[in-house]
Order: sequence, then structure tokens, then C-alpha cells
Amino acid sequence: MPEQDEKPEVKEIKEKLMLKRDMVWDRLDSKEKEGVFLFAEGYKEFLNRAKTERQAVKEIIKFAEEKGFKRIEEPLGKAKKVYRVLHNKAIAMGILGEKPIEKGIRIIASHIDSPRLDLKQNPLYEDVDLALLKTHYYGGIKKYQWVSRPLSLHGKIIKKDGSELDLSLGEKETEPIFTIVDLLPHLAHKVQYEKKLEDAVIGEKLNILAGSIPFPDKDTKDRIKLQVLKYLNDNFGLIEEDFISAELELVPSEKARDIGWDRSLIGSYGQDDRSCAYTGMRAIGDIDNPKEAVLALFLDKEEIGSEGNTGAKSRFLEAVVADLLSFEGVKADDGAVRRTLMNSRAISADVNGALDPDYQDVHEKRNAAKLGFGICITKFTGSRGKSGSSDASAEYVGWLRQVFNRNNIVWQTGELGKVDEGGGGTIAKYLASYGMDIVDCGVALLGMHSPFEVSSKADVYMTYKGYRVFLSEDRG
Ligand code: MN
Ligand code: MN
Repeated sequence: MPEQDEKPEVKEIKEKLMLKRDMVWDRLDSKEKEGVFLFAEGYKEFLNRAKTERQAVKEIIKFAEEKGFKRIEEPLGKAKKVYRVLHNKAIAMGILGEKPIEKGIRIIASHIDSPRLDLKQNPLYEDVDLALLKTHYYGGIKKYQWVSRPLSLHGKIIKKDGSELDLSLGEKETEPIFTIVDLLPHLAHKVQYEKKLEDAVIGEKLNILAGSIPFPDKDTKDRIKLQVLKYLNDNFGLIEEDFISAELELVPSEKARDIGWDRSLIGSYGQDDRSCAYTGMRAIGDIDNPKEAVLALFLDKEEIGSEGNTGAKSRFLEAVVADLLSFEGVKADDGAVRRTLMNSRAISADVNGALDPDYQDVHEKRNAAKLGFGICITKFTGSRGKSGSSDASAEYVGWLRQVFNRNNIVWQTGELGKVDEGGGGTIAKYLASYGMDIVDCGVALLGMHSPFEVSSKADVYMTYKGYRVFLSEDRG
């Protein structure tokens, strides 16, 4: 029966009892709609400038200093806002609260690494009179998405003499880019079309085109490779061995763009998880005198399991909490750090996959997140019986839901696909291992992990607002 024919009393009881999801756009007045579009402009700039974890750290430092945060290694005086950088690839921003830190911290933890192609340590070679670079992909990519597209190269090289070189090439229109060629369809029948999609483009063939002019001396072997090395030496003082101590990442060179007639969506590389990193950064940037201490963490290596000395397993959080405790004048022993963490409340700020219009079957529609329906709470992740998930408690989700409702935050819930369809994980479980309350909460994306992920400007804005109230709301 159409809704207008319903009896008023039925309509009323429906309103009261049934779960209803609102689109963000329906809940905003025209002034706030303008705010959504304005917020998106800053977000796109961040996406364009922070294409790698190192660049994201630089952008976050810039923002933190603008907002009056002091580097923790500096004399702090009466400062209440501090930041600390970990190996140039992770960063934390913290603000002391009115309450003692041991009562618990409000934490938003995102990650700033994204799936990409890394150069191998011995990458440069010559084949069929072309210079090429070997890569090893980083994180969960669909390899066929990375061929035949413009790529830029970013990263750090430590030269033979120990000096550092930051490289960024391919972002400006005037700079050259790199690419992986794909096979012409005329010849692809046996080697690609007859194979499973997963095997049609294999990792060892993700080789980057890097030059084609020969070294002038015709009698030399590997003339093309030599000419590339000569260019690198002339321009950057590099030798081939320098690649060994380098971290060079290939990422899509396109800029973030508006999508659709109504410009309501954003297409860009790296929105997992820079949509949550940017909104988390902006949220803590708005906080001045919080009741409880607040902390925004921007971590690395999430896409390869949070390993390494800059990932969530690195215990960076413990070190930062110890800093904050001693900053407050409390002895930062093991017990104090553990009590603080156990009493803390956190959001694992990460994206979820939104209901894909073309592949609706992999989702379970009652529980899938949708673009435009606000910040997405994901109670559990994991796969095959929630395995590998931290699964937030009813109490904690109940509290967060109240916080969002009280503050007019448009929110929805999500899960990562149908039962046994696939799955995935976030950093939630690593922070949960300290005993704190934590739940995944962030932006839902279409085309997640692709070189061109899609978000809704309304969701990005609601995520920022949601994070802000999470940081500032009293425990109640
Ligand atoms: Mn993520
Ligand atoms: Mn991811």
C-alpha cells in the first residue's frame, strides 16, 4: 500500500518503531549543503597532496602546526596540544583534557597508506630496447586495474653517501608520468581472455615503462638502461645501487575530481583511508578544551596487516600515551599506560564498501552501507564467522549511537559483504588488544581499493561531524 493511503495511526506507529535510514541530503538545510561542498574542496586538495603515507604525514604536520599543536620533542611550556611523528610515516595529534589522562582518552585511529605499486630494490632493466622498472604491489589490488594508466612516482632515496632525496614526479601536467602497457586485444585471446580474471594480469608483469633513448655509444650493451642511469645521475646524483635503499611508490597521477551532474561524489585514488584520515584531522583541529584527552592517530602499513615499525602493531600508541602522561606530570610507568588504554574509547576510522549497484548480490542489503546515508558504523569485520574481527560491544555501540543521535549526525551501519562472501579487517583489533572500547566507523566507498575510489561528499562531511562529536562528547 502506498504510504499516503496509510492510516495516520499506522503511520505514527511505524515512525516510532521501525528502523529508518535517512539520506544526508534530506537532513541538511541549504546552508549546510553549501558546507558539504566547501568541505569537499579541502578534502580533494588533501587527496592531491597526500598520495603516499610520507606526504600525508607532511600535510598533517602542516595542519597541526597551523592549529597550534607543538612537536612533542620541543619545549612545550603551557601547550595543551602536541603532535609526534613516527619515522616520517605515522603521526599522532593529542590534546590534554580537563580530566586526568588515566581516566581514558578519546582516540580516532586511521591509516594513511593505500594500495599501490612499490619499486623492487633492483628495479631497472632493459628489454627489447626499452628501459623498464620491476614492481611489487602493496596491499590488496586488482592487478588489471593498474595497467594502461598514468602513474606518478613518489618516495625517498638514501644515496651512497647517506644523503636523502625526496622524489615526486608525475603530479604536474608538465612532468612525465609512468605506465604499465597492457596487451593489445588482437593478441590477448590465449594469454588473457581464456584465463581467470585474477590470472590475466600477473604481478611479475606489472613492469613500468621508464625510457627508450639509447646511450650514444653504439658498441655498449644495455644502452637504454645506461642512458636512464645517466639521466638519474646528472639530475639527482643517483647510481643504480641507490635503489637498494629507496622506497619508491607508484600511484595514479590523476587528481581528485567531482563525479556526476550534481557534483555530489568524489572520485580519487587513496580514499581508503584518507577520507577518514582527513576527517579525523579536521575533527581534532576543531577541538580546544576537551573534557577527556583526545588523540588522533594516523598509522601506516594497514594495507599489509599493520605490520612494521610504523603500523598499528608498532606500539606507537603506547609511546604517545606515555608522552601525554608525563606531559600531564604523571609517572608514565607501564601500569599507568595500560590503565589509560584500558579506559579509553576509540573509533577505528576506516572505510567500508558501499552497496555496489552492479554487484548487489555480494552484499546483504539489509546490512550494507549505502552512499549518501552518512557516517557508517561497522560493528564487526573479519570473515568466515567474524574471524579476525574485534566485534564492538552492544554497550559501546549503544553509547556511540546516542552520541550521534543527540548531535543530529546522520549515520548508518555497514558490514563487509554477505556472510562467507569474502571479508577483511582493520586496525580495530590491534587497539582492542589493549582492552579499550573500539568500533569501526567511517566513510562508505564504491570501488574501494581501486585506483579511482568513489565517495559521497555528504558522507565525508558527516564523518567529519561524527568524529568531532565523538571527540568532544562527555561520557555520560
Ligand atoms: Mn582501510
Ligand atoms: Mn584498505
